[in-house]
Amino acid sequence: MKLLIIFSSIFGLLIGGCQHNPSQRTAPDAIQVQTDGLFEKLVAVRRDIHQHPEVAGHESRTAATISAHLIAIGLEVQAGQYGHSVIGILRGGHPGKTVAWRAELDALPGDFRDPALFRSQNPGVHHACGHDVHIAIALGIAEVLAKQRDSLHGTVVFVFQPEEETFKGAKALMDRGIFSSITPDEIYGLHVAPLPVGQIVVRADEMYAYARRVSIRLKNELSKVDIVQLTKNLNSELSRSRTGAKPWQLQDISDPAIGLTSPSNAFQDYLIMDATFDARTENGDLVLDFNLYETTASQLGGIISRVERVIDASGHKRQLVSVSYVQENPTVLNNAALTRFAIRTLQRSRSVGAVRPTFGQVPFFNDDFAYFQQKIPGVYFFLGGSNAGKGLIAMNHAPDFQVDEESIRVGVSSFSSLLVARLGTPGQAEQEPPADGAISIALFDAHTYHRKSHRE
Ligand SMILES: [Zn+2]
Repeated sequence: MKLLIIFSSIFGLLIGGCQHNPSQRTAPDAIQVQTDGLFEKLVAVRRDIHQHPEVAGHESRTAATISAHLIAIGLEVQAGQYGHSVIGILRGGHPGKTVAWRAELDALPGDFRDPALFRSQNPGVHHACGHDVHIAIALGIAEVLAKQRDSLHGTVVFVFQPEEETFKGAKALMDRGIFSSITPDEIYGLHVAPLPVGQIVVRADEMYAYARRVSIRLKNELSKVDIVQLTKNLNSELSRSRTGAKPWQLQDISDPAIGLTSPSNAFQDYLIMDATFDARTENGDLVLDFNLYETTASQLGGIISRVERVIDASGHKRQLVSVSYVQENPTVLNNAALTRFAIRTLQRSRSVGAVRPTFGQVPFFNDDFAYFQQKIPGVYFFLGGSNAGKGLIAMNHAPDFQVDEESIRVGVSSFSSLLVARLGTPGQAEQEPPADGAISIALFDAHTYHRKSHRE
């Protein structure tokens, strides 16, 4: 998960009560029993990776650890297609579709406070985004599914990508054609989020707001006062949010009343901007850059001309040289039919995860998983990692970011169940339920939509 701004401080976080109560579990199924059997081992792997974090482009030890685990459980391993990537291939006992699962390797540069006993041993590097947890979950799913290999219909491809934080790894892997010989029909992945452990949150379409960086170039004739006034005008003219909603308050995403799982959640239908503008002179011009976050794709096309109108109205028409986007990364875009299937499957499964649909889109962050989804229909989930009772708040990239390791158990059991359901018996997924007849039509529509919007 790439963060697009730096938080100066995130204090006073209000995390909803823990929804996770293992004693309420119904009779465990085989996947749950297998997950429980692996749990201690996966926690040990996670802590080892947490102690030895590596930044983007340098994930050699992490990759070697992953390769060794995949080989030990009998997967075919391909390493180094790009950077320190590791691909594990699990071929089931019967023919069928190919489903992929993605995890990321890299940690963050910087000295973060880390109260964990297993804190980083690499000065200036820290797993403050939870990718160590994602690796443990992916290895756990691989091992659970490997135990069921003979009954699986199809193939599962585990993609451990490098360089997510720099937004390079996924695109580079796709550009190198990692899926040219083994093409997944679907791809899945998750991100630890500051929601209560036990919760899984997902929506069809965009999980994040669209992040754009705008660059304004003006003749260098504006005073400091002019510049401050212009940034204020841009903020007041461009920004919008629902009445009373404060979508910039990320700590609210776990709030039961206005957070992601609430029907009246505050993270819908907004355009917000970073508080800071980057002003500099370049070749004699004044350049003003800023980031904005827009929930609605159809609004993106009109933003540049709106910026130009604000500059005109502020009295600087004569100084204006150009306005353009300098960053237009794709955003995570979940396939609608696969998302519905996932929600139904996870709600039905007896795993410990509780899935909640959302209408909200998270600002400030993005994930280069979006590059896989441009070519392969897929779903990306938020997995709760906070536990207020234990004082653990999984606010990504923030100081004191900590993850409840029970999220590993939730992730492995829930998503092993989902991948088994997707492979299942050939054709089963598409034959889904007479009770929800619209699904088969929606499946077709969604695929058509994906092809139209991403293959032009
Ligand atoms: Zn991340």
